[in-house]
Amino acid sequence: MKPPLPLYDITPFTLLDFPGKTACIFWFSGCNMRCPYCYNPDILFCRGKVPYSRAASFLESRTGLLDGVIFSGGECTLHPSLFSYAELVKDTGMLIKTDTNGSRPDVIAQLLESSLLDYVALDFKAPERRYKQVSGRALFNEFHKTLHLLIASEIPFEVRTTVHPHLLDKEDILEMTRILEEAGYRGTYYLQQAIDHGNTLNKLPEPGHCPWLASITSSMFQVSLRNTESSLHFGSPAP
Ligand code: SF4
Repeated sequence: MKPPLPLYDITPFTLLDFPGKTACIFWFSGCNMRCPYCYNPDILFCRGKVPYSRAASFLESRTGLLDGVIFSGGECTLHPSLFSYAELVKDTGMLIKTDTNGSRPDVIAQLLESSLLDYVALDFKAPERRYKQVSGRALFNEFHKTLHLLIASEIPFEVRTTVHPHLLDKEDILEMTRILEEAGYRGTYYLQQAIDHGNTLNKLPEPGHCPWLASITSSMFQVSLRNTESSLHFGSPAP
C-alpha cells in the first residue's frame, strides 16, 4: 500500500499571505492539534491528493513569476517530506514562508540550520493554563521552544493568535502579550478574531465582536488587529 500523500492542495496565487510577496500556497494534510474553531477540518482528516511530481511541475511553471511558496495546512512540519518540498522550492530560487502551530521545534531547528526558511507565521494558541482547552493538545512547552528558536534566529517572523471570546478572554491575551515580551519578541503580534465559517471542527457559540481587542498594547512590540471591524484582512487559514 502506498503511503498517503502529504500535499492536500495548491492555491496557485495569493497576494495576502506572504508579506510583500506574490506567492502560492501548498496545503499539507493532517494536524496534531484540534482547535475547536479550526475551519479547515477536511484538511485535518483527509489524505493528500497532490503527487510530488505535480507539485514539482507546478513550481517549474511558476519560476520567475512568483516570489515565494507558503507551506501551510494542517501542520506542515509533521511531514518528513517537507524537506524535499523545501529543497524543490529553493531550487527554483523562490522564498519559503512556513505557517506553523509551533509544536515541532526540532523540525523548525532543522529547517533553520538548512537555510530553508525565509519567513514564519507562528500561532500562539493560548497561555499554558488554557493551551490544551484551546488547541486540544498540551503542547505549550513545544510552542515556547519554537518561539525562542525563532527569536534567536535571524529570519523575520510573526506571532499570531486567533481569538474566540468563548475560549480566550482579555486576561488571557494580556498574559500572552507578557509571555512574548519576556521572551524578547520584537516583531508584530497579530490578533485575529475567529470567524464563524459554518464548518468549524467543533460547534462554538457565534464569536461576535471583541471590543476589548483594540485595547491590547505592548511597549515592546506592535500589536495589530486582523479580521476585526477595523481590519477585515484574514491571513492564512492555519491559525
Ligand atoms: S487551526 Fe491550525 S493548528 Fe488548529 S487544528 Fe486547525 S490546522 Fe491544526
